[in-house]
This record gives sequence, structure tokens and C-alpha cells, in this order.
Amino acid sequence: MVNPSLATTPSRTGGTPLLEIDDLRVYYQTVAGVARAVDGVRLTVGRGEILGIAGESGCGKSTLSSALLRLVRPPGHIAGGRVTLRPAGRDPIDLLGVDDATLRAVRWRHLSYIPQGSMNSLNPVMRVVDQFVDVMVEHGAGSRQEARDAVPELLRQVGLDGHVARMFPHELSGGMKQRVIIAMATALKPDLMIADEPTTALDVNVQRVVIQTLGDLRERLGVSLIIVTHDMAVHAELVDRVAVMYAGNIVEVGDVTQIFKRPRHPYTQGLIGSIPRVGGERTRLSGIAGSAPSPRNWPSGCRFHPRCPRAMPICQAEPPILLPVADPLVAAAKPPGLVACHLYTASGTEQPR
Ligand code: SF4
Repeated sequence: MVNPSLATTPSRTGGTPLLEIDDLRVYYQTVAGVARAVDGVRLTVGRGEILGIAGESGCGKSTLSSALLRLVRPPGHIAGGRVTLRPAGRDPIDLLGVDDATLRAVRWRHLSYIPQGSMNSLNPVMRVVDQFVDVMVEHGAGSRQEARDAVPELLRQVGLDGHVARMFPHELSGGMKQRVIIAMATALKPDLMIADEPTTALDVNVQRVVIQTLGDLRERLGVSLIIVTHDMAVHAELVDRVAVMYAGNIVEVGDVTQIFKRPRHPYTQGLIGSIPRVGGERTRLSGIAGSAPSPRNWPSGCRFHPRCPRAMPICQAEPPILLPVADPLVAAAKPPGLVACHLYTASGTEQPR
């Protein structure tokens, strides 16, 4: 069933969204059957907005982010949907429909992608500056000399000294490599950057630096960001809105304050309840019972029902629809959150048990 409310998922900044994902589906053909890793996602990202995508491992968030740039590898394929990017000053781009040459021209210039573990993808035998120059020249950022001259400033924008340009990757710490990759992703001043698990494998101090770097880039360059991570602390520190994914779909979208203070969906409540707190009253971590289901065999109805502490008879039979749920504690100026759960009526009132 098509849910009309999803296509207009509101963004924090309002107006025409920069990116619109409509009914995106990514399936993997395996010997054991079809795995529906991403199964009808609808989302928007506003201009200058940082959207976080949260969820456990295996919920489909990395597949979703790679599909936005058609980087899904066989046996995966994009089974349907539409992704539209609206860069400032040019016609909308149908990212799933354009030919390969157009898509290559869009990458880096309008939309850059920092895949998981990308700091290990730096070429170990090339100086940092030469790796920048190759990318920039290939994507039409001017001559080799112009690209070379621009590198120190790009590095300074992510808090690195300009002399890092002359270094080899083995001379850099993990955090420095990650910031080099982020600087490279900004080299052509894209409208949108997607970062998949940008702080994974970094120690907490370096994580903080990377988070600050990404936040500063939004302020300085006006770039929009999609941050994909299972780490709820990163969402709390960096993003404006959080989209929570479960079993290949979005189950809740909301302003970051609302998601952390008043999570609605029982799955979101479980994610928030499993974060250890420092200070304040001592509470027992609640967590989420069981484990994520297989994408080859999603449960019927609400896919969370086998693990949900509040499941009702209807939950096994009918998939819930993502609907706006107003929250009187969230400022009226902010768009209402969306929740896919039978506990809520269309007016946002939680149903009595
Ligand atoms: Fe739980 Fe039912 Fe809501 Fe699903 S629809 S999250 S099973 S209460």
C-alpha cells in the first residue's frame, strides 16, 4: 500500500527538499531466496540539514546509503523507487535514472559519499596531495596546479595543518586519515555528503574531533549531510533529525531532541534505553529482546512484533503505516515526527492498552 504521508516527510529546514527518496527498494538474490534489505524507504533531506540514519546492524541503513549513488554490488540490485537530488541552480537529477556518465559527473560535485572504513582506502604509496589532485582533476575542478594549490586550505577546513598534504597515509593517525577523507569529499563543494559509520574504529577523543569537523562543515559550507551510524551518541551530538530503520524500512523519524527525550516507537525506545548514562539517577539498561530478523523472511504485519514488549493482536496481521504524530513538548515550529506503530492513531494519540 502506498502511504501518501511518507512522500512528504518534512525536513527541519522546510521548503523543497534537497534529496527525496521515494519507495526505494534494494534486494539481494541469494541461493536461499530474495533478501529485501531495503524495502520501500521514503525520506527527505533538507538544504543545510544533517539527517541521521540509526538502527542495529543488518537493518539496511548501509545498503540504503550506498543505493543513493547506485553503488550496490551484485547480487544486490535496486528493485524499484526513485531518488531525486535538487542541487541549487540546476534541474533536479533522477539519480536512479540518469546514465552512467551523468552519474559520474554528479558524484563528488553534487553528492559525495564516505563509505564505511574509507580511511583505509587511501593509496599507501601516494602523498595526500596527489590523491586529492587525481580526484579533483578527474571531476573537472581545474588544472593539476590549481587543484594542488587548493589542497592545504581544504585540509585546514577539517582542522588539519596544510603540511599534511605532503605526507603519506602511513604517517597519519586514524583520525587524521578520516579527516583527510572528509576533506576530499568536500573538495568539489558538494550539496550533500553521505558518511557511513564515520566514527567507527576511532577512539572516543578522535570521534569527538570528527563529529565537530562534520558539524563545522555544515556551518561553513552549508552542505547537507546524511550520517549513517548505529552509534546513538553520534546522532545525539551531531544531527538535526533522526530516521530510525528497522527490518528494511523507516519506523520513526523525528527531531533529534524528540527522538531522545520522547521516543515513540517501541524499537526507538529500546535503542535509547540501551544507552548507558553518565551521572543522574542509576537506572537499569532496558535494551531490546531477541535479534534482528532475516531480510529473506521478514515477520508478517509489523516486522518488530516478535520482539516488541507492547505487541497487540493487530500487530501480527497488519503492517503499520508511518504517520505524523504531534508532540506538544516539541516546538510548534518544528515538523511533527512520524511513527509507524499501531499504538498511535492518526491524530498522534497513544491508544489505551
Ligand atoms: Fe509493537 Fe505493534 Fe507498534 Fe509494532 S505496531 S511496534 S508490534 S506495538
